[in-house]
Amino acid sequence: RAKELPLAENLTADVHDVVIIGSGPAGYTAAIYASRANLAPVLFTSSVQAGGELMNTTDVENFPGFPDGIMGPELMSHLEAQARKFGTDVQYEDVVEVDLKAEPKRITLGDGTKHYARAVIIATGSQYRELGLEGESALTGKGVSWCATCDGFFFRDQPLAVIGGGDSAMEEAIFLTKFASKVYVIHRRDELRASQIMADRALANEKIEFIWNSTVDAINGADKVQSIDIRNIETGQVNTLDVNGVFIAIGSDPRTDLVKDVLEINDVDGTIIVQEPSTATNIPGVFAAGDVVDGKYRQAITAAGMGAKAAIDVEDYLGAHP
Ligand code: FAD
Repeated sequence: RAKELPLAENLTADVHDVVIIGSGPAGYTAAIYASRANLAPVLFTSSVQAGGELMNTTDVENFPGFPDGIMGPELMSHLEAQARKFGTDVQYEDVVEVDLKAEPKRITLGDGTKHYARAVIIATGSQYRELGLEGESALTGKGVSWCATCDGFFFRDQPLAVIGGGDSAMEEAIFLTKFASKVYVIHRRDELRASQIMADRALANEKIEFIWNSTVDAINGADKVQSIDIRNIETGQVNTLDVNGVFIAIGSDPRTDLVKDVLEINDVDGTIIVQEPSTATNIPGVFAAGDVVDGKYRQAITAAGMGAKAAIDVEDYLGAHP
């Protein structure tokens, strides 16, 4: 159903109705909706991290429809199967370049192959910043987390640490006091970066103890987190703190490398700006969904919801630009 490309540079190429870049909950949900609307989408997953961030986690207990929870990779394979079932062409490839202003839009893959599309959905997600410690990746999902909303529930009556001093660190810490016996906030400075209101709330919370001027040297534990080593950067002294969970809240980087020169980007959090409540970007025919546009909610279900909106926005756009 793809149309033939009327371009001298590649007379044999097809023009797809829509190309989706990214294979997290946003990309696959966009694909399910777009394929059920007969748009025959092509979805590029990335060759290194197909399936998005939920591939890095174990139990997902807050995605509606799974009362007993579901493992992250299993949920993503269901989404992929559902997208394929309705005709999405899923390709395990990296998009390395896009020309979004061209008509049709040009999408270049890692092997140099070019694809053309009338509309593009950017669903490339966001990369949580890591501390860069050895135990960190080995203990991800075993006490190391980047999401209190997702994992706080697993730590009832246990001592936890939150690393960071910004608004999201304060939000995470306050949220975690609902479950934890105690929450240590470890911050490398002697004052918070967070807004006054968030800082005041956290400082007034009796369950939160601040450990200032300190960084984490090590996360310890064989198959789950047992403690962390904390270094006071003024004295150099290292102490071990017994905690069962470490929530890392030092920021995240929306994956906008492909598009940041042409799409409007929020200069505070680096997300792509969309014309809410739609998913339209500043370039006609280019839509964005999921954590790459969302600096606040960052949940699988909210990413999926935006993916559905993006596909419907594409349908409307293509209908209006036959
Ligand atoms: P992502 O899931 O990040 O997917 C984006 C995809 O696009 C990636 O596969 C990436 O490789 C790909 N991509 C990027 N650039 C390119 C390119 N150039 N070419 C091709 N592909 C590209 N949320 C919950 O609701 N519940 C939970 O229990 C939960 N647990 C979590 C546990 C962990 C450890 C983490 C890190 C996050 C968790 N989250 C959870 C948050 C949730 O994973 C994210 O909110 C959600 O995955 C965002 O979806 P997305 O589709 O926007 O992006």
